[in-house]
Amino acid sequence: MNQAHEAARALEEHLGREAVPALGWTTALNLVAPRRKTSAASGDPSRLLSLVPAEMGHRDLQELVTLLEQDGRPGKQTATLLKLAKWWLMEVEEVVSRGTGGRRLGERAVTQLRKIPGISQELADRIRLFALGEPVPPVGRAALRVGCRHGWCELDSDSEEWQAWIRNWAEVAEVDLWQMTRWIDEVGARWCGPQPHCEGCPLKTFLPASGPREPES
Ligand code: SF4
Repeated sequence: MNQAHEAARALEEHLGREAVPALGWTTALNLVAPRRKTSAASGDPSRLLSLVPAEMGHRDLQELVTLLEQDGRPGKQTATLLKLAKWWLMEVEEVVSRGTGGRRLGERAVTQLRKIPGISQELADRIRLFALGEPVPPVGRAALRVGCRHGWCELDSDSEEWQAWIRNWAEVAEVDLWQMTRWIDEVGARWCGPQPHCEGCPLKTFLPASGPREPES
């Protein structure tokens, strides 16, 4: 059986499948300014989730800082969020209102998104995948570590090659791209950090015979 199939099966056995993420502005909001764990766990409903981009984009900066902090979110993300709300209004509103989550953004919209201060390429791709349903896998530290340590991709590969690896795995294993991304993130968070802790990791059986390769080597 293909390794992508086997790895996906191991990931599913260990980590299970998650509910399909809801497309739309609130997902983008939660990616850019997530609630602190204590606030999320308190059970208090988030008051910001009802604030659509058109309302948020016209708020005074200081007022929005206060709203974020009251909602248990990092106030320092306010300026980024304001710019994202304006970008969303200009470039995305039509896509979301039509419910056409799979539609791709134009090149200009992507460039503008990546230019927003505080939005890295990885975060931009996360917004595109999880909030807009575009087939754009974000390549973060978890993916870099997992891919390098197993020899599935090379550190000096460009971002398109990294994305192609993740996309190809999802296609071959017939797993949604967002689910494959979540699994890789989870492996990175639980086992594959700055130092790999392979014992108990779902991907341990897929290591090279010599063990994990170091990303820097
Ligand atoms: S088996 Fe080790 S190197 Fe591979 S993903 Fe898990 S922790 Fe990382």
